[in-house]
Amino acid sequence: MAVKNPITMTCRGCQQPFSTFDPSRRNFCNKSCARRFHLSQRPPFDVRFMSNVAVAGPSECWIYRGSCDDLGYGRYGARQLKAHRISWQIHNGPITNGLWALHRCDNPPCVNPSHLFLGTSDDNNKDRSIKGRSRDQRGERHNMAKLTAEDVRAIRSIEGISHTTIAEKYGLSQAHVSKIKRGESWAHFVPVSTTEEGKSKQ
Ligand SMILES: [Zn+2]
Ligand SMILES: [Zn+2]
Repeated sequence: MAVKNPITMTCRGCQQPFSTFDPSRRNFCNKSCARRFHLSQRPPFDVRFMSNVAVAGPSECWIYRGSCDDLGYGRYGARQLKAHRISWQIHNGPITNGLWALHRCDNPPCVNPSHLFLGTSDDNNKDRSIKGRSRDQRGERHNMAKLTAEDVRAIRSIEGISHTTIAEKYGLSQAHVSKIKRGESWAHFVPVSTTEEGKSKQ
């Protein structure tokens, strides 16, 4: 308050002089200089991404700790890009020709680059049927599955209609519908409506 004359300071961003009446609160000549400076101080993309990953031994799965989609694949950033795909690119370079990053380990949240390989969408389908076991036996990836995640969501939300009727509609056995309803089938699948983003699956 006692200060009457502006004080000249050096901007931490552009290094140019600027005047201020309150030197204790100003380090930058203007807001865009401040923003540019703080962006330049941000850790690089790969470091920021990898801070979400539980890096383990070279042959172990590295589990992504950020948010995951319905099928358990990690999603990163405002654009919700596939985490395992980002990891492959960070470690190996850009993916071209519309190829997919596929899991050798069959573990959706894993982003260990040595567990990933590139293939076409056909390779992905082949890979799924070859691996018709363990995780792939669950839900949508099961060879026998006639249902999509959407169907499961719908079936679970249907009320007041017999399981037999639902079974007919979806071409399932009544027992299978009951299992879905009880959460014994598609147990790994949590409907989006009851799921907060950021949930982590293992
Ligand atoms: Zn400046
Ligand atoms: Zn893995």
